[in-house]
Amino acid sequence: MLWSLFKIILFVVLIGAATVGATYMLETDGGIRVDIGTQEYNLGALQAVIALIVLVVALWILLKLAGLIVATIRFLNGDETAISRHFDRNRERKGYEALADGMMALASGEERTAITKAARAERYLRRPELTNLITAQAAEMAGDRKKATEVYKRLLADERTRFVGVRGLMKQKLEEGDTDTAMKLAEKAFALKPQHAETGDVLLALQATQNDWHGARETLGKKVKHGALPKDVGKRRDAVLALQEAKGIFQDGNSIRAREAAIEANKLSPDLIPGSVLAARSYLEQDNKRYAARVLTKTWKVQPHPDIAEAFAEIEPDETPEQRLKRFKALTKEHPDHPENKMLLAELHIAAEQFDKAREALGDLPTTKPTQRVLTLMAAIERGLEAPDSEIRAWLAKAVVAPRGPQWVCDKCHTVHADWGPVCENCGAFDTLSWTEPRETDMKMPGGTRMDALLVGAPDIAPDREMVAEARAEDHEALVGGSDPADEAVDVTPAEATETESKN
Ligand SMILES: [Zn+2]
Repeated sequence: MLWSLFKIILFVVLIGAATVGATYMLETDGGIRVDIGTQEYNLGALQAVIALIVLVVALWILLKLAGLIVATIRFLNGDETAISRHFDRNRERKGYEALADGMMALASGEERTAITKAARAERYLRRPELTNLITAQAAEMAGDRKKATEVYKRLLADERTRFVGVRGLMKQKLEEGDTDTAMKLAEKAFALKPQHAETGDVLLALQATQNDWHGARETLGKKVKHGALPKDVGKRRDAVLALQEAKGIFQDGNSIRAREAAIEANKLSPDLIPGSVLAARSYLEQDNKRYAARVLTKTWKVQPHPDIAEAFAEIEPDETPEQRLKRFKALTKEHPDHPENKMLLAELHIAAEQFDKAREALGDLPTTKPTQRVLTLMAAIERGLEAPDSEIRAWLAKAVVAPRGPQWVCDKCHTVHADWGPVCENCGAFDTLSWTEPRETDMKMPGGTRMDALLVGAPDIAPDREMVAEARAEDHEALVGGSDPADEAVDVTPAEATETESKN
C-alpha cells in the first residue's frame, strides 16, 4: 500500500519536473540552465532531452533498487522470504504475461508463437499443468503430432490434467485408426469423467463397432446415471443395444437366452420395429402365437411397417388368403389412412384375388404417393382385372422411375440401408436409422427414364426412341387423362421427401 503511494507520488513529481523542464526550454531559447551549487551548466535542446532520458532511466533503476532495499530491510527485520518473494513476484509477472501472450497467440492461430510463449511461461512459472495445455493445443493445430503426443504424456503425470492427456491421446489414436488402443484410452477417460458426454459417446461407438454390446450397455447405463443422457433416450438406446446383444446370442446358438434378451429389448422399447420382430419370432419358437401377435400389434399401433406385417404373417403360415385377411384385421383396423396400411390391405386382397377390393384399398395412393410399391401393386391389380398389356406396362414403367418410398435412412448422412442396424454403415453414428423417405437426390437410378421408354414401347426389337416416346405419351394420355402421377413424384421437394414419418 505504502509502496504504491510512493510510486504515485514519484510519478507526479516526474511529470512536474518534465513540465518545469519544458518551460525552462521555452524560456531560454531551446536550452536550459542548471545551477548546481556554485556551478552553472547551459544545455542545448538535444542535450536537454538526452539528460531527461538519462534521468528517467536513473529513476527507474532507483525504483528497482528501492524495491530491493525494502525487501532487504524486511529480510533484516526477520522476514526470511522477503528477498526471494521480491524476485518471485517479478518472475510470476513475467510468467503470466508470457502465458497470456501464448493464449492470445493460440486464439489467433499463431501456433509457433504460442509454443514459444508457453515455453517461456514455463521457465518463469513452473506450472506445467497450465503451460502444457497451451503447448499441446498449439502442437495439434500446427499438425506436430509427435510434439502433441509428448505433451499429452506429460499431462498424464498430474491428476488435474490426466483426463486432458488421456483424451488427447485417444483422439490421436482414433485418427490413426488404432481402435484397440483408442478403446482402452476411452475406457480410461470415461472412468475418470463419466459425466463427460463426448467421451461416453466415443466409447459407446467404439464398443458398438466392435460388437461389444454388453460393454456398450454398461457404458450407456453409466452415462444415464451421471446425467450425461436423458433417461428416455437412454432407455431407447439400451433397447437397441439389448436387441443387438440378443442377435449376437442367437448367432452363438444359445436360443433360450437369446429369446429372453429379445423379449427384454422389446419391453424396453416396444416401438423398436426390429426388436418387436425378433421378440415375436422368439415367442413363435416357443409356440406362443398369442404373445407374438400381441407384441406385433402393439408396435404396429405405434408405426405400421412391412417387417411387422411379414412377421405377423409367419404366425399362421398355412392359412388361406381369406383366413389371413380376417386375421390381419387386428393390424389393418388400427391406421386406416396410413399408406402402409392401405398397401398391406391391397396386397392381402390381391392374394385373395379380390382385385376390385384391392384397388379400393389403395385409394388415392397412386396419385398422392406414387411409390414403386404402390405403382407395382397397381400393375398387379390391372393384370388381375384383365386390363390390356399396354396399361399394365404403363404402370410398371412409372414404377421404375418412381420414388422408392420409406427406407431405413441415416438421419446424419442420409445413407439408405437395406436392413436396420444399430450403427450406420456409412458414418458409424449410433441409433440414427429411421424409417423415412430418402431424399430424391440420394437414389436416382441412372438411365431410369430411358428404361421406362423401353418398357412402354414395342418390346420386341430395339425400339426407335421417338416412336417409343410417342407411344408412351399416348399410353399415358389414355390411362390417366393427362395428369401423370410419375411426373408429380419427381417434383417432390427435398424438404417433403426427407420429412421423417416417425423415428425408429
Ligand atoms: Zn450415417
